Amino acid sequence: DLDEARRVLQEVFGFADFRPGQAEILQAVLDGDDILAIMPTGAGKSLCYQLPALLRPGLTVVVSPLIALMRDQVEQLKQRGVPAAALNSTNSGQDNAMIEAALLKGRYRLVYVAPERFVRADTLSMLRRAGADLLAIDEAHCVSQWGHDFRPEYRALGESLVALGRPQIVAVTATADGPTRAEIMERLFPAEPRQFIRSFDRPNLRLAMQRKHKPVQQILAMIARHKGESGIIYCASRKGVEKLTEILSAQGIFALPYHAGLAPEIRAAHQDMFVRHENVVIVATIAFGMGIDKPDVRFVCHADLPGSIEAYYQEIGRAGRDGLPADTLTLFGEADIRLRERQIEDNDAAPERKRLDRRKLQELIALCETPRCRRQTLLAAFGEQSEPCGNCDICEGRWPLFDGVVAAQKVMSA
Ligand code: ADP
Ligand code: MG
Ligand code: ZN
Repeated sequence: DLDEARRVLQEVFGFADFRPGQAEILQAVLDGDDILAIMPTGAGKSLCYQLPALLRPGLTVVVSPLIALMRDQVEQLKQRGVPAAALNSTNSGQDNAMIEAALLKGRYRLVYVAPERFVRADTLSMLRRAGADLLAIDEAHCVSQWGHDFRPEYRALGESLVALGRPQIVAVTATADGPTRAEIMERLFPAEPRQFIRSFDRPNLRLAMQRKHKPVQQILAMIARHKGESGIIYCASRKGVEKLTEILSAQGIFALPYHAGLAPEIRAAHQDMFVRHENVVIVATIAFGMGIDKPDVRFVCHADLPGSIEAYYQEIGRAGRDGLPADTLTLFGEADIRLRERQIEDNDAAPERKRLDRRKLQELIALCETPRCRRQTLLAAFGEQSEPCGNCDICEGRWPLFDGVVAAQKVMSA
């Protein structure tokens, strides 16, 4: 029960108490329900399957899209004394064979499996024999072909359930607008799951969007406000990344590039520098970010318009995961909008998908041009109603408290 869960939370994980939403989800997992949990990045979704894995008798299988993410989680669990392992293609064949043998002896509480490996008939039958009866699907939005993180292997997960003996399912994600949520439910669950949806609001993130007029100066001004702090700058293209990194470096800023065109060792090294240090600005394409657990990213800047409102939300969501104030700035121009439109039209996709992509882009453009509180507009796009936030450029422009007082004093003393 929940008291037992809290004891394990403290003794094994070393956390004082549950974060908002965790206790309800845990209770539902322990009740044996199938669950879809949608919680913002940093909310603590992993715990919602890791902790039940320790409280239930069977084996918990975690499917997760990124090997680096799996490795981090398994490492953390081991450090906490939890017997956990990962099956993936970076292990040697011998390692994987040893892990499988140990699994069949009941040596592990959790096993992380890469999706392409999980769906193989031999893996499924091995997991079944090992007593797998809880399946956790992390980053469940990867199943959605409408989403920006689509993984084809996730599509086969739903069909694997029978071979695994119909395990209980816990799917978690931070991304789910209506269509994505519907697709997750249809593809991953045999019947309608219990759903837990926590607010998408991240009140500590300051939201701002500006038309590009002098983009380099606009970006430099952002960095100058965050001297010695970590930040991410997203560009739409590899060339953009290279160019901006050069410009920033010439200004004496510790900037590192990251995109899929760089050698894997270089990418890994740059990511590592970023995670370990406090003053690195990473200039990146969207290839950077999913699953990076760096709590103290103080700013995220979009040098170009993101591809959709979901991508925008996910990318700014990498700032301020520690709950402390963090700053975001998105630059947009006519050319960006045209580029995104062209990408949608040139894409060889079904008409239904194009319509949806156009709508998501329109929502983002509306957010750029809104006269209304950015957060209100953003949350409304995810189906949430809210009051003006007081922590966005529009709210601040409407009630320019500090500047207004100073300006008024100047007028009066003139
Ligand atoms: P998500 O997957 O929702 O983005 P994670 O599961 O990676 O979030 O958790 C984010 C961070 O919060 C991790 O460092 C994790 O250890 C920490 N965390 C999770 N639950 C708690 C808790 N109840 N108390 C304190 N820290 C927690
Ligand atoms: Mg996560
Ligand atoms: Zn606002």
